[in-house]
Amino acid sequence: MTQLRPLRPHQTAALDGLKHSLMTGHRRPLLQAPTGAGKTVIAAHIVAGALAKHKRIAFCVPSIGLVDQTFERFRENGIDPALMGVIQADHPWKRSNAPVQIATAQTLARRDRPQTDVVVIDEAHIRFGVYEAWMTDPEWQAVPFIGLTATPWAKGLGLLFDDLIKPTSLKELIDLGHLSKFRVFAPDHPDLTGVKTVAGDYHEGQLGERMNKPVLVANIVETWLTRGEGRPTLCFATGRAHAKAIHEEFASVHVPAAYVDADTTREERETIGKQLAAGEVKVVVNIGTLTTGIDWDVRCLILARPTKSESLFVQIVGRALRTAPGKADAIILDHSDTHLRLGMVTDVDRDELDDGKPKKATGSDGEERSEPLPWECKDCHAVVPARVNTCCECGFVRKPRSHVESRDGELRELGTRKASKPVTVQDQIAAMGKTAVYGQLLFVADERGRSEGWAAHTYREIFGTWPRGLSKHTAFEPNPLMRSWLRSRDIRWAKSQKAKRASTEDTYA
Ligand SMILES: [Zn+2]
Repeated sequence: MTQLRPLRPHQTAALDGLKHSLMTGHRRPLLQAPTGAGKTVIAAHIVAGALAKHKRIAFCVPSIGLVDQTFERFRENGIDPALMGVIQADHPWKRSNAPVQIATAQTLARRDRPQTDVVVIDEAHIRFGVYEAWMTDPEWQAVPFIGLTATPWAKGLGLLFDDLIKPTSLKELIDLGHLSKFRVFAPDHPDLTGVKTVAGDYHEGQLGERMNKPVLVANIVETWLTRGEGRPTLCFATGRAHAKAIHEEFASVHVPAAYVDADTTREERETIGKQLAAGEVKVVVNIGTLTTGIDWDVRCLILARPTKSESLFVQIVGRALRTAPGKADAIILDHSDTHLRLGMVTDVDRDELDDGKPKKATGSDGEERSEPLPWECKDCHAVVPARVNTCCECGFVRKPRSHVESRDGELRELGTRKASKPVTVQDQIAAMGKTAVYGQLLFVADERGRSEGWAAHTYREIFGTWPRGLSKHTAFEPNPLMRSWLRSRDIRWAKSQKAKRASTEDTYA
């Protein structure tokens, strides 16, 4: 076997988290590997680990287009091709005796289940009846099923999987430079009142009608011309008619554009990818077919497909976050209000899998949010993170809203969904993200001989919740902000103890 690629710290944490989950009795762990986390590398190590223990492993992918790609990626990542087979009639790599079997959900639905010791479900947020029947079959309860996904938020996923492992986050990957930074603009506010919700997202037909308005379509092209910097661009449209209208509008101003949908062949798609890389095509318009499985160098994204689905939203934006030489950031032109509705993709996060029960609705997008929403700069239409009061693009300073009251010496805004407090050190620490904060606390706990419980309690002080679902095996060197906050916290505590002692002494003096 050739050498496996070395792992980055969060990838090691992912494998350790899985191992820990299986060792503590879980049989259906789900690993969250965001875009840019190197899911294939992690998967290759899972496969290699099973092979080293002489175990058979079935690797399931959601579509036929991903079979050859998975095979190739595993080969590139050090798995001996002689040990891999594909479950599919007439496939050149059909080798039923190979210990690694790659299969699609569709072929599994038609054939017998392979005899295997471990099952990996790739893109596990996509629900297939065949997986559900297999995973809930009493005869298969002892066999581990490992789910992999960037977006483990699908309804009812917690009914199939019993553990969520989150070794890293989008925010952390951006901070570490594994993913690109991004800037968001909200040039349009389409009227979506009255559009029905079907299965958690907007009714596609109604949405298509609302979005396919000449004014909106013209503004997409106009905005791209002023803000897009001629960058290689992916545009997500709402339905074919809308995509066609956008495509034609670009053509009318001589911007070379292409169109991709489910009927586009793999060869055509590859050609378009090359043209985009060469600058012969500037904008590729699609209707949600390019959410996974492409690794094009995309530097601008046009979001013209409003969605209520956090998974779809994060997948779409993820297409623009790949790093590339000379790429400082990605520009996102959001014509769908999705950022103002769901927040920044770096804020979309859950500590637990969905248990399928109805949630208490708090607004149009349904579920309770842990993060306040970003705001739109009235001067330049940039979308600015909630905790920041100055526009990062033009320097516009957000004025406090008209109803401001002073309580406990703090200014609180009214009228927003959640009153935003002034930025404190604790807020800044919270903004580093849950994985990063917990990892740093674990590091300090180890360094000072304190317990995991201390780390959990301190985490709770910051976020108000316990670090459920976070790996206990990833420790990060704390940054200066964290160190100074912990120091001031220790000093506060020591002072309070001293005061307590003094008052006790007073009493008994
Ligand atoms: Zn601005």
